[in-house]
Amino acid sequence: MGAFKAWVVEKNEGGQSLAFRDFDEADLMEGDVTVRVSHSTLNYKDGLALTGKSPVVRRFPMIPGIDFAGTVETSDHPDYKPGDAVVLTGWGVGETHLGAYAEKARVKGDWLVPLPQGLSPEQAMAVGTAGYTAMLALMALDAHGVTPADGPALVTGASGGVGSVAVALLARAGWHVIASTGRAGETDYLKGLGAADILDRAELEKPGRPLGKERWAAAIDAVGSATLANVLAMTKADGAVAACGLAQGMDLPTSVAPFILRGVSLLGINSVTTPLPKRREAWGRIARELDLDKLAAMTRKVTLQEVGQLGDEILSGQVRGRTVVTVG
Ligand code: NDP
Repeated sequence: MGAFKAWVVEKNEGGQSLAFRDFDEADLMEGDVTVRVSHSTLNYKDGLALTGKSPVVRRFPMIPGIDFAGTVETSDHPDYKPGDAVVLTGWGVGETHLGAYAEKARVKGDWLVPLPQGLSPEQAMAVGTAGYTAMLALMALDAHGVTPADGPALVTGASGGVGSVAVALLARAGWHVIASTGRAGETDYLKGLGAADILDRAELEKPGRPLGKERWAAAIDAVGSATLANVLAMTKADGAVAACGLAQGMDLPTSVAPFILRGVSLLGINSVTTPLPKRREAWGRIARELDLDKLAAMTRKVTLQEVGQLGDEILSGQVRGRTVVTVG
């Protein structure tokens, strides 16, 4: 067994420490597939794990990093053999199971999906957990039956990772997309991804009235808190809101008014434990429906060594779009 490079979070008296160091392969956790990681990404949750600002890490030492693409090195799982290209998101990797900011990972084969046809490992990670979650949100809106003929679709946290992919996917699906952002300087960026209108997030982030003017038929919300309450209050009758994030806060200071007076639906999105058939469907749709030029336009690349320093940047809402981590 050899050693490989990894970011490692350790618990100490002051909270936690983070170091880039050698990690012994013998110390990897149980799993039937060992993967040579080629790419990972930076998600909001990775920011929480890297900085310790919220207790997402439940086991120490921990290798953070909640998603990866790579090549199978060894496998006892019937679906995977050495050389297969695979993708992983969720399942507690980087939280309870040793994660992706490392040259190697050992996981359950049941957690993996094959690299979707038409995407390179780097493109799959440009999508990553954030983009995959945006697709789950779009699928939830589709399943609810709301369509572009019903009115516009709002995206909150639009310049972030989930938001950027959501804007591109909704625009491609024919929606008139309203992108809510706190960054006026990103107007051209968001219009380039397909946003038709820009909404200053200041209009949404303060506590508002239980019901407001009906402005959108659908929404993908990455922000939570008062923003989500206002999004619900301004959703058209029988519309739907897919809620996936908490960038503003975990609370939801709303009333039942949007639900019982307008028939608005609140659809919860959890990307971590999505069953395999739905995962495959989501990745298949991403490969078919996401414009790869737009994906490239929303993506920057950093090295494995650099990602350890980027936790504060994403938590303070300064990261635009998606960040791919080149590992191998
Ligand atoms: P990002 O940091 O890339 O995006 C979040 C965006 O939200 C920011 O770019 C910013 O957009 C906006 N924002 C940040 N702070 C605030 C604030 N205080 N008030 C209002 N808006 C704010 O993160 P991700 O895209 O990776 O994740 C977005 C959210 O989705 C996170 O909360 C994350 O935990 C959650 N998530 C949930 C998943 C699930 O399974 N349910 C899976 C993946 C992510 P702008 O500057 O444009 O306003």
